[in-house]
Amino acid sequence: MEGIFRDIKGKKRVDYPLSKLSSFRVGGKGDMVVFPNDVDDLLLLRKIATENAITLTLIGFGSNLLIRDGGIRGLTVILRKGFKNIDVVGEKIAAGAGIGLQELAKEAAKHSLSGLEFAAGIPGTLGGAIAMNAGTDKGEIKDILSRLTLLDERGELLEIKGSDISFGYRRANLPKDGIVVEAELELTKGNIEEIERSIGSEIERRRNKGEYKGFNAGSIFKNPAGDFAGRLIEEAGLKGYRVGGAVVSGDHANFILNEGEATAKDILELISLIKDRVYKNSGLLLEEEIRIIGEE
Ligand SMILES: Cc1cc2nc3c(=O)[nH]c(=O)nc-3n(C[C@H](O)[C@H](O)[C@H](O)COP(=O)(O)OP(=O)(O)OC[C@H]3O[C@@H](n4cnc5c(N)ncnc54)[C@H](O)[C@@H]3O)c2cc1C
Repeated sequence: MEGIFRDIKGKKRVDYPLSKLSSFRVGGKGDMVVFPNDVDDLLLLRKIATENAITLTLIGFGSNLLIRDGGIRGLTVILRKGFKNIDVVGEKIAAGAGIGLQELAKEAAKHSLSGLEFAAGIPGTLGGAIAMNAGTDKGEIKDILSRLTLLDERGELLEIKGSDISFGYRRANLPKDGIVVEAELELTKGNIEEIERSIGSEIERRRNKGEYKGFNAGSIFKNPAGDFAGRLIEEAGLKGYRVGGAVVSGDHANFILNEGEATAKDILELISLIKDRVYKNSGLLLEEEIRIIGEE
């Protein structure tokens, strides 16, 4: 398969350990993992995948993913390095899909632009945040997204208005297999000190809650309407519960920590046990927020 990727300029790796690309630090190997350098590389990757009927899997920072131990067949594309451009015009900030939310929020602050503070502690890329409609109780990416450039499944670049995409709770109805390449956010003028202060306190708040401890993928489950998954898991007596190297966080019961040696199988078993116990205890069936991909 390697030969068909010869014209790609970005880094290419065969049988690459995907655990390196996921914040959970689990997952088997990727048959072919490519880090495109730029949009031309990405267009070519899409074309190669279509012409050779190869499945294309997209990963940003891998902060919302559980990659199974059998890895990913076909092509895995990592949208990071070549997609970090930032361009500020007035109250709009346009950026590549591979930029980190924290970096983007800090850049917005430098221009006294407010509106992204809620996202400053979310360890994902802009593209991943749009695909997931990432957010907190203070806002979601859909609230500020004015436009995006998307590479569709036919290999065409489309310009789409934010208002033309339907979003839900941690969900965006993007065109099938669409890859967000770049996006524009509409922010508002604010006071630079206040913006920087709220970015700092957002990151501090998460650090104090232990969110950045150990290897994890953030909240495992969506909050059911009117309740919190973490509260339900704690009420079911599962804080600190363990399967192999995977443990329910003692700080935040909706987080599972890989203490270093966990496999995806350990985490999946723990997820299924949590769902069972919470259902028996509260009658509520939790739904995963993380995306589970790859082969068993
Ligand atoms: C400590 C911690 C705290 C977190 N807190 C929050 C929180 O408060 N709120 C919240 O919403 N999330 C939170 N998350 C989850 C995660 O950070 C977000 O979902 C983030 O937006 C995912 O971005 P990513 O680049 O890591 O995406 P990935 O995990 O790499 O991918 C997630 C999904 O998005 C798709 N995707 C990625 N990039 C693109 C693209 N360019 N175009 C199209 N699809 C794409 C992938 O194919 C995949 O299906 C947290 C995670 C951690 C580890």
